[in-house]
Amino acid sequence: MVDRSTVSKLGSWAGYRVQRVVWPRESGGTVEIHLKPTRKWMVCERCGHRSQQLHETVMRRVRDLPLFEYRVVLVVPRRRLWCAHCGGPRLERLSWLGRYQRVTDRFAEAIGRLLRAMPIKAVADFYGLGWHAVKAIDKMRLAAELPEPDWSTIRYLAMDEFALHKGHRYATVVIEPTRRQVLWIGAGRSRETAAAFFAQLPAGAAARIEAVAIDMTTAYELEIRAHCPQAEIVYDLFHVVAKYGREVIDRVRVDEANRLREAPQARKVVKSSRWLLLRNRDHLKAGQQVQLTELLAANQALLTVYLLKDELKRLWRYRRAGWAKKAWQRWYEQAMASGIAALQRFAQRLKLYLHGILARCRHPLHTSVLEGINNTIKVIKRRAYGYRDQDYFFLKIKATFPGIPR
Ligand SMILES: [Zn+2]
Repeated sequence: MVDRSTVSKLGSWAGYRVQRVVWPRESGGTVEIHLKPTRKWMVCERCGHRSQQLHETVMRRVRDLPLFEYRVVLVVPRRRLWCAHCGGPRLERLSWLGRYQRVTDRFAEAIGRLLRAMPIKAVADFYGLGWHAVKAIDKMRLAAELPEPDWSTIRYLAMDEFALHKGHRYATVVIEPTRRQVLWIGAGRSRETAAAFFAQLPAGAAARIEAVAIDMTTAYELEIRAHCPQAEIVYDLFHVVAKYGREVIDRVRVDEANRLREAPQARKVVKSSRWLLLRNRDHLKAGQQVQLTELLAANQALLTVYLLKDELKRLWRYRRAGWAKKAWQRWYEQAMASGIAALQRFAQRLKLYLHGILARCRHPLHTSVLEGINNTIKVIKRRAYGYRDQDYFFLKIKATFPGIPR
């Protein structure tokens, strides 16, 4: 058997020595290491002052890294001292046992490293821990490691909503779009949610914002204007194109399919073409490209709305507002002359939001970042089917977009 001083040396639990080691009868079991404090004085966890006044001692079972084939459980008399400096009973500060309490810091670190590549369940099984214990460790680690946004350098924001459970509830995410950093997430998608975001900003941060990218139809705009009157509102391309897909392309596709009642073969092709029409052309395979070309050649209305979708996207690429405005006028005239009611309605409504499209030319806002984050949130949600814990879900999203250093 290994002697106590060797175990003590291996463990290096500062401030404690090994009092007793209980080895399991069978191999591969749990070895219990009973520790005992070696110092009379203690350091206050809160303020760092020393004290010799013991308030109470509580026995804690703490998991540590395995020792060869054995699991390790430490039995630790955890002391509370009476701190005269900050006044009150405080936990003793230990260099090796901190936030996690149920596991040593080094064990929590090892779990954290594994979690970067493995799901919670796999890590829990690997160490013989409970799913909830591993999740709790991950949650604390994420919260501690997330960098605070450097508000003094932030000039641009993008705000968007995403669905929580099955689309019944929503949350709002605020992003620094040039650095791809998630700055804030809050429950809800109302004006109040936007107000809550601005309320937690440090003084002066809102006044430094130059532009905010949003979806045209969100409730955030009034709140942005109230808190950052100097900021320009930029309408996000991704949302406008998605709206165009729903309100124009889908409508025309359904109308065309209905028109083709007498030609069931052609009708079927048009009906099932949704994905083909909405997908970015560059992402289509060669066979699908051919299919799309044939579809558009046979349907004048679909061809028109399809081509105008590409033209619409181009409005976000101009560097000069003057050019963008000319391009918009061309686009608007074509839409109105098309004779397609859904397209005309869309163009008229979009006209009211033109300022937010032209504003994009003055700011380097690559608003496709919202699309990327939106998709990633969906992936996180799918992988984490069990994220009942909303705080944990939000932390995961933030940790996925910690920001690219400048
Ligand atoms: Zn203290």
